[in-house]
Amino acid sequence: MGVIHIIGAGPAGLMAAQQYALQGKSVVVYDHKPAAARKFLVAGHGGFNLSHSEPTTDFISRYDAKRIKEIVKIFTNQDTVDWLQSIGVPTYIGSSGKIFPRKGIKPIEVLQRWLHMLSGLGVEFRFGYRLIDFDSQKLIFTTDVRTEEITYNHAVLALGGKSWPKTGSDGEWLSLFQRKDISVTAIGPSNSGFELSVKYPQLAGQPLKNIRVFNVQAEKSGELVFTDYGIEGAAIYYMNRFVRTEAFPQTLYVDLKPSFTEAHIRSKFEGDKIADVLKRKLRLEPTKRELLRTLDKSVYTNPGKLALAIKNFPLELKGFRPIEEVISTYGGVSWNELNDDLSLKKFPSIQCCGEMLDWDAPTGGYLLQACFATGHFAARKGTSNSSY
Ligand SMILES: Cc1cc2nc3c(=O)[nH]c(=O)nc-3n(C[C@H](O)[C@H](O)[C@H](O)COP(=O)(O)OP(=O)(O)OC[C@H]3O[C@@H](n4cnc5c(N)ncnc54)[C@H](O)[C@@H]3O)c2cc1C
Repeated sequence: MGVIHIIGAGPAGLMAAQQYALQGKSVVVYDHKPAAARKFLVAGHGGFNLSHSEPTTDFISRYDAKRIKEIVKIFTNQDTVDWLQSIGVPTYIGSSGKIFPRKGIKPIEVLQRWLHMLSGLGVEFRFGYRLIDFDSQKLIFTTDVRTEEITYNHAVLALGGKSWPKTGSDGEWLSLFQRKDISVTAIGPSNSGFELSVKYPQLAGQPLKNIRVFNVQAEKSGELVFTDYGIEGAAIYYMNRFVRTEAFPQTLYVDLKPSFTEAHIRSKFEGDKIADVLKRKLRLEPTKRELLRTLDKSVYTNPGKLALAIKNFPLELKGFRPIEEVISTYGGVSWNELNDDLSLKKFPSIQCCGEMLDWDAPTGGYLLQACFATGHFAARKGTSNSSY
């Protein structure tokens, strides 16, 4: 029986390994880092949303590419919950609908339980192996000490995107694919914070909650956080897709009081001091009031202009954060380079999965869900091909 060689020990590669192993295949997983799933653990330092609980129709609407929507429909959020339970990781749904490991279970424990399950299935790991080249018969790796050629019948590449290169996802595969004439849709920052032209260092670390951010293309309710360079936060990440279509600088607006109309806000100012109205009648939190105090005096002291600013506070965006610091990357291996089973048309014995494919989604569990789903899909479809 042939061996399935999986390169990339992130969530997509590990899921493909699990599914191939469950189907009785011998599986070897390679990674150039000394340990598995470093970015998965980094994700654990933040919220560690493993998926999201919303209904499938809403869930798949979060993705851009038609193919990824189809694949996520096959391995759904409920499948993720069931699978996590099967490896000993019960989950719970947070107030935002996001799915997390049950309280008290650390990200490293989730990974350890998964790796334990994989080793029980006989999956072998080779760390310190960097894939530097391949053809239709050989995978070529470098290690600390040598170059090693491995003859293969079937391989899966799960090499990740290009953010957080220190976790191993350094995007070096892009030049390899270019040399093989495999087209890759341009890769760029996604789920990124923004650098602002006018910064608010005095507000760094403070959130703006219960706001709506918008531009001419889209809007999102939620919250943002000020940093010393600009802004971060879920609502900001959501807007990435609708910002990258235009050149910087561009303006993103913040509605600081979504539940009131501009006229309603204006009416509150009649006869009262500005500061009192903001605090008592409009009940704006201290960060919002401090932000409004940065307005020109001629605006701050004019109820009509101030009401307009409360509903449309402009933030001039200077650019995205450096790709090394963003949560994920958009773009990747073009869908038209892939067969239905996610194998490469030019190298049908090699499948691709995970963030290296051309799709994009907001944070909140959608990224990991797509990685699990594509890894699962690759192995399920792969085994229907009798040659491996
Ligand atoms: C700060 C942060 C927080 C996040 N939070 C969340 C969250 O809460 N929810 C969510 O859904 N998603 C989150 N994500 C995104 C999620 O972690 C990634 O989308 C996911 O890890 C991608 O999985 P992958 O298997 O495709 O690739 P990766 O996890 O990037 O794994 C790719 C693997 O391939 C290896 N590799 C690369 N090139 C080679 C090579 N040439 N040879 C050998 N090995 C190679 C790498 O070392 C790496 O181990 C977060 C990401 C970050 C950075």
